[in-house]
Amino acid sequence: MPNITYGRKWGPTPNFPCALKHKAELHPELRFIAGPCAVEGEEFIINLSNRLKEVGATMLRGGCYRYGTYPPDGNAGLQVERSSWLCTAAHEAGLPWITEVMDRMDLTYLSGADWLQIGMRHAQHYPLLRAVGEVRKPVLLKRGTWMTLDETLGAVEYLLKAGASEVAVCERGITSFEDHCRWTFSTGTIAKLKAETGLLVVGDPSHGSGDSKVVPALARSAVAAGSDGIMVEVHPDPPNSASDAEQAITIESFKHLVGQCNTIRMVNGE
Ligand code: PEP
Ligand code: MN
Repeated sequence: MPNITYGRKWGPTPNFPCALKHKAELHPELRFIAGPCAVEGEEFIINLSNRLKEVGATMLRGGCYRYGTYPPDGNAGLQVERSSWLCTAAHEAGLPWITEVMDRMDLTYLSGADWLQIGMRHAQHYPLLRAVGEVRKPVLLKRGTWMTLDETLGAVEYLLKAGASEVAVCERGITSFEDHCRWTFSTGTIAKLKAETGLLVVGDPSHGSGDSKVVPALARSAVAAGSDGIMVEVHPDPPNSASDAEQAITIESFKHLVGQCNTIRMVNGE
């Protein structure tokens, strides 16, 4: 019996037997995904990943591209080197690792990645979803800020149909009229996904808020709403982070957060 049961408004109800494999206990690595926005250097990422492992991270994240919204293309390049630094750092710390695929060509050098990430800007880039699915690895799909739940499940289906061995949906904030935070973090979507689809769900409070002051609260709210894990941008020296400095939290606050989230999990009865 398929495990995606969400009653979608438009189009046929998703029906993928492979979704049966979506069991959170099979993927404890999703629980505390942590790392910098960008892989800033080899030594940098090796030191950081060792420290993150010590304080409870279960998977290392890091952006190998450094494309920002502005200026266009300002820091791009070195993605092959950065991904090999990320891989080395993860192996040294004994952590699995994840990074974003922006182009199908990236797949040629990301064969060592444990999970592949689809960034929100590409969440409906169907040829890319298919190419990434064909690699048959687990995929973390970041919901586009404009995408409804139906549209998000459509993207999940592209990945599963192409062969992705697993898909986790990442709530990372959506566009709304509100502008006090960078995006509006939807814990309702997390709860709905868990209640009605059985998919793995991860909350990203870093991009969801853009503000390190509220990242811990949003992370706790994601876990309280039932997410299987959180993805948090952590930096040894947040103000000097090469990108997304405003939302990076310190290693110390990440450590504290891990303890709090574990308590919330117990309260949830997990
Ligand atoms: C990221 O997680 O590195 C990232 C760029 O996030 P998003 O695609 O959600 O903006
Ligand atoms: Mn970032």
